[in-house]
Amino acid sequence: NRKYHPDDSLVDLGGGALVGGKRLAVIAGPCSVESEAQIVGVAKAVQAAGAAALRGGAFKPRTSPYAFQGMGNDGIRLLQEARAVTGLPIVTEIMSTDNVEMFEMCVDVIQVGARNMQNFDLLKQLGKTTKPILLKRGLSSTIEEWLMSAEYIMAGGNERVILCERGIRTFETFTRNTLDLSAVLAVKQLSHLPVVVDPSHACGKAWMVEKMSLAAVAAGADGLIIEVHNDPPHALCDGAQSITPDQFAGLMEQLRALAPCV
Ligand code: PEP
Ligand code: MN
Repeated sequence: NRKYHPDDSLVDLGGGALVGGKRLAVIAGPCSVESEAQIVGVAKAVQAAGAAALRGGAFKPRTSPYAFQGMGNDGIRLLQEARAVTGLPIVTEIMSTDNVEMFEMCVDVIQVGARNMQNFDLLKQLGKTTKPILLKRGLSSTIEEWLMSAEYIMAGGNERVILCERGIRTFETFTRNTLDLSAVLAVKQLSHLPVVVDPSHACGKAWMVEKMSLAAVAAGADGLIIEVHNDPPHALCDGAQSITPDQFAGLMEQLRALAPCV
């Protein structure tokens, strides 16, 4: 709450890449880890373009049980390899309390996906860890519910929380979700926590990612998390919303014209 934390909190993604300062922190990478060549290749490309951290899902919350569920532990190992090659901190989603210990050991930033924003047992356990937590806003959650979920983590002693606006479900179906940019202003007023925006899951369309990223920065976001894939038409998950490494490099150039990046 701002009342007790008048100053903005800074959260280190790992290796001194701070979210919440004057610089923009851009996290980029594929929706899912698919192979060694894919994740290492994308990691090198986003690092060269100026990303602060690498994202990639290993445990995937898919709507259909018949869809690709992620590479699991092998995916975590490949993320570690991509980190060893590029030096980028790795961000990946946790789905189960069973994996808290392993994630704390193996990854730099633990992502709580929209579908688990109110998995209170998971939030409580993450409150006992020392790793930064990227807390996505729930599919249909209010700002207050989202901030209360952040409180669950912080109440356990872990104050390293980064909020992530990723769009909410509305009556509109043209976009995958509706990006609530006013939420960025609201949480910056109500909370001391840094907030990043995920235009990829918000829009669900790759061609919208660039403009919505710039809009998020104009609204005061501390950073972005963007899906980047080497071959979007053949991605195992979320290809339609994934931009290519070249498009990402172009976006980073535009972002740097607005603000320095981490
Ligand atoms: C993701 O980041 O790949 C993801 C599943 O996002 P969300 O939880 O926002 O749907
Ligand atoms: Mn995705």
